[in-house]
Amino acid sequence: MARYTGPVCKLCRREGEKLFLKGERCFSPKCEIEKRNYPPGQHGKSNSWRRTEGSDYSSQLRAKQKARRVYGVLERQFRGYYTQALKTKGLTGLRLLQVLESRLDNIIYRMGFASSRSQARQLVAHGHFTVNGRRTNVPSMQIKPGDVIALREGSRKAQFFKDLAAIADERNIPDWVKRDTKALSGQITRLPERTEIDANLNEQLIVEFYSR
Ligand code: SF4
Repeated sequence: MARYTGPVCKLCRREGEKLFLKGERCFSPKCEIEKRNYPPGQHGKSNSWRRTEGSDYSSQLRAKQKARRVYGVLERQFRGYYTQALKTKGLTGLRLLQVLESRLDNIIYRMGFASSRSQARQLVAHGHFTVNGRRTNVPSMQIKPGDVIALREGSRKAQFFKDLAAIADERNIPDWVKRDTKALSGQITRLPERTEIDANLNEQLIVEFYSR
């Protein structure tokens, strides 16, 4: 599946907030939002007031774009996730977030085995992980409670993964995720509740956007 390959920090500047797309850098003074928190483009600085002057449509659009950017999903796939959420039981907005949270790259990030979702995506695309013992290179793979995600045997020799256990140990994981840092494996025990997903995402506005 295609992915966004343009400048990443620009996406945060467009949304006017940190989306934490670059791992450790996002917590350092090098973060672009710390240096110039105004929209990108020639007139970004002078037009920064526009952010507060939005119509209903513009706030719905921004909510949708923000979620897409946080999870690194392009429009067509994101719409597909919305359709999937619509067809399943429960609140559509929450189901949409749960579908996004169930992506393999997101879960590897949640387990602390990657510093960002994009790094997790790359690790999966390079075939470093297995799901239930089978190697996969599909970052969007949907993971169900009980599926076992593990580092592939052949990847364990690489220095990056030798250091990863100690690094992952220092990263907090949510309650719905279980991990074994020594074995570099883990699973999800259940789907996350709304309070366990980023509070700054507004799923209601996303549902309104697609229901227009
Ligand atoms: Fe966003 Fe991270 Fe870039 Fe800061 S460093 S602007 S949080 S991607």
